[in-house]
Amino acid sequence: MRDRLGREITYLRISVGDRCDLRCIYCRSASPRLDTKEEVLSFEEIVEVACVASEFGVRRVRLTGGEPLLRRDIARLVELLRERCDPVDLSMTTNGTRLAPLARELARAGLDRVNVSLDSLRPGRYRAITRGGDLAAVLAGIDRAAEVGLTPVKINAVIMRDVNDDEIPDLARFALERGFVLRFIELMPVGEAVRDGFWRRSFVGAGEIRERLARELPLIPDDEAGGGGPARYFRAEGLPGKVGFITAISRPFCAGCNRLRVTATGELRPCLASDMGIPLRDALRRGELDRVREAFAAAIAGKPPGHRWHEAPTRTGMDELGG
Ligand code: SAM
Repeated sequence: MRDRLGREITYLRISVGDRCDLRCIYCRSASPRLDTKEEVLSFEEIVEVACVASEFGVRRVRLTGGEPLLRRDIARLVELLRERCDPVDLSMTTNGTRLAPLARELARAGLDRVNVSLDSLRPGRYRAITRGGDLAAVLAGIDRAAEVGLTPVKINAVIMRDVNDDEIPDLARFALERGFVLRFIELMPVGEAVRDGFWRRSFVGAGEIRERLARELPLIPDDEAGGGGPARYFRAEGLPGKVGFITAISRPFCAGCNRLRVTATGELRPCLASDMGIPLRDALRRGELDRVREAFAAAIAGKPPGHRWHEAPTRTGMDELGG
């Protein structure tokens, strides 16, 4: 289905829970308020939402959070989505800390691929950014995902000035040499990232990242890589991986935005940059699927034309709304 600007809505990101075992400095507060078990959508409810979304033309579904691998029996949710809605592309964004032991089960259940968040390749720095994360576990998870075919493995790196901007070439080489797809993501003014002026101090634009990279590694535009998302990709001669840039701030891609989000507590969010959401949970719990359909129609009709982050940040944290 198309919105009033002619954007075809084909992609749904579902947060399966707001819990996370990491507290990345730009994403999650040191002591977040957590949803109760009753507040969070059940697997059955998530599947119903995804199936209604498919009636509206959604063909790609991503599970995210919080940390989706913390949700008990998450492979069962993947299996249910496969059985009941069977999206063309079923993916997951994860921090990777628990991916190594779960990757095979997820692949067997029908997950197509994973995006793993990785902002540093230095164990001490990784621990500092994530407030406690174990880099070795994440690297093992990435390798395992590649082995079991959760490919292409994409790696998300948020570059922040004076935090990890000196690792731009190292992160790129890591992905290019191993055949992964690295996406440099511009820090967005969302939730925790705007606290105490952090976003303003730390933002590094994709243009600068690309320039700093080009000094060390000649990159060749790779339009074929596409991926159906907002990233623009490049490759390097003789290396199997790719590098992309998600320019949410420096070159917004709202005009081509094809996505909706559902928070863990069942709010349908038409735009990452807006705190506006339509609650679905009560209708789901009453079995009123027509109300859920009405909500989808309203969300698509009311999808904002573009972000207004220059005027106001998004108050809801990325960890709550399923980044
Ligand atoms: N726990 C999972 C993970 O770590 O990938 C999924 C949820 S996390 C909120 C999803 C992605 O959002 C991560 O790649 C994270 O780096 C990114 N993210 C969080 N806050 C962000 C911000 N302010 N700007 C840009 N990306 C952000």
